[in-house]
Amino acid sequence: MICVPITAGKKKEALHAIERSCQIADFIELRMDLIGGGRLTELISTARNSFSLIKIIVTCRKKEEATPAGGSAGMGIKGAGKKTIDRKIALLKEAIELGADFVDIELTEGRAAIKELQTFCAKHGGKTKIIISYHNLKKTPALTKLKEIFHQCAKVKPAVVKIVTLANTAEDNLVTLSLIPYARKHSPEIISLCMGDKGRVSRAIAPLLGNYLSFVTMEPEGKSAPGQFTVYEMKQINELFKGERTSPLAPVLSIRTPPQNYILLGDPVRQSLSPLMHNAALKEMGIEGNYSAFCVHDLVGAIQGMRAMNIRGASVTIPFKVAVMEYLDDVDNDALKIGAVNTIINSKGRLTGYNTDWLGLILTLQEAMPIKDKTIVIIGAGGTARAAAYGIMKEGGFPIIANRTPEKGKILSGTLNCPFYSIAEIGKIKAECLINTTPVGMYPHKDKSPVKALALGGYKYVMDVIYNPLKTKLLKDAEKQGCHIFSGLDMFVHQGAEQIRLWMGVEPPRALMKKVILERLTKIE
Ligand code: NAP
Repeated sequence: MICVPITAGKKKEALHAIERSCQIADFIELRMDLIGGGRLTELISTARNSFSLIKIIVTCRKKEEATPAGGSAGMGIKGAGKKTIDRKIALLKEAIELGADFVDIELTEGRAAIKELQTFCAKHGGKTKIIISYHNLKKTPALTKLKEIFHQCAKVKPAVVKIVTLANTAEDNLVTLSLIPYARKHSPEIISLCMGDKGRVSRAIAPLLGNYLSFVTMEPEGKSAPGQFTVYEMKQINELFKGERTSPLAPVLSIRTPPQNYILLGDPVRQSLSPLMHNAALKEMGIEGNYSAFCVHDLVGAIQGMRAMNIRGASVTIPFKVAVMEYLDDVDNDALKIGAVNTIINSKGRLTGYNTDWLGLILTLQEAMPIKDKTIVIIGAGGTARAAAYGIMKEGGFPIIANRTPEKGKILSGTLNCPFYSIAEIGKIKAECLINTTPVGMYPHKDKSPVKALALGGYKYVMDVIYNPLKTKLLKDAEKQGCHIFSGLDMFVHQGAEQIRLWMGVEPPRALMKKVILERLTKIE
């Protein structure tokens, strides 16, 4: 079973992490030594409201046994004084009163503290179980020593014994792994693994031997201990070892995945490649669900339907990116500033709008060139041009707007406080990069370009947001002029991947998403 530790330093981030983790994990662990702010009652009720069957572990690791990775802005439990232990026991008692499923207490806190907690649990109906844990942040002791430690933990009759040590060598993995079948012959459940980069082997193999829980992180930067896998990596490992469990008693490594359905709202949507890309990603990530395109004539009705049918998220495309904003409950700051939404998250009926077009474009640009201090000409003054200009400015670059209709172009350049040129003047501008954000040159009008070929010679980089065809006339002309060129394909993949990150909180399989789109486009061409 999968457990995601919640370690965010700020309350808002912690609540968000809880909501996302509850959608995918069997357990969450509230690391109260790392979570800064946020009362336990609010954290627990957020988890229960997100998924009523989620199992909650409350932990308040003391500083000596807490790993350096993960957040550090929390209250922290430092020292071993009586007052510190009292504070910690009070917090764990509060967790018991609030109905946490498990509280975790270190063996080194002593028999008296553990006994006090057990008595308190029993008084409250015994719903909350105790995990006794041992952490060695310096090394992995020999197996005989670990067995001794296991018996010391097991003696106080907890529900689970957790033993985590640092792997200094690959062989250390064998020691913690060997403890699992040994411990399983005795009554409590066991969690035994190594941390650190050299300990990743134990994290991969331990579930096959019957380790009670696998600790994983939603995102690479959110690790609560070094060596932790992401949910997605663990899912891949699970796939790899399918059917390889050595013990029939070993619990199947599960990642809870209730059906998750997503939609695309637009008109027209028939040609959209988003369903192909998103469904390939869902399948690869082992998430049960579907992404379907809806040609929408009644936007209000579509939004009501999204709430009623508990659709987890939506992509929004032409012509609704601006219009949809007034029907949402919240709009994220970036999307507000851009003035367009291309992504909606449905969190228990509350719809929030985001924009990932700007991120898709910036991630693509960054793969090719530095943006800071560079002048970049944007052809167009529509939604994509606004997203591009916003991202470029955010990254410290200088946009210039060039548009067919001067009035519209000047309105945008005035808002951004940047220069405006007519399209005919593009050859005269001194800039590093040119980006086309108009539909000119898109299939089936493949012989059209918004700019004359000779105007491109002064640009080092030329990008087209169009990805069908992969090489537009603009890009072909630019290539002949010696420019580095890049199509809208990577932007399309990145904006879609960022949607998945928002909906599911996991890193999507970008390479696979690009592959399926590339295959389809190559076939079309
Ligand atoms: P939009 O808001 O309608 O804006 C279109 C812009 O293109 C306007 O500034 C318009 O100029 C200009 N334009 C249209 N036809 C033109 C023509 N014949 N000659 C010169 N300029 C023309 O559209 P959008 O949402 O920004 O989308 C623009 C393009 O970006 C679409 O092709 C879309 O598929 C693509 N896109 C790609 C990605 C990706 O991931 N790769 C993501 C988003 C969008 P006026 O002001 O003169 O009307």
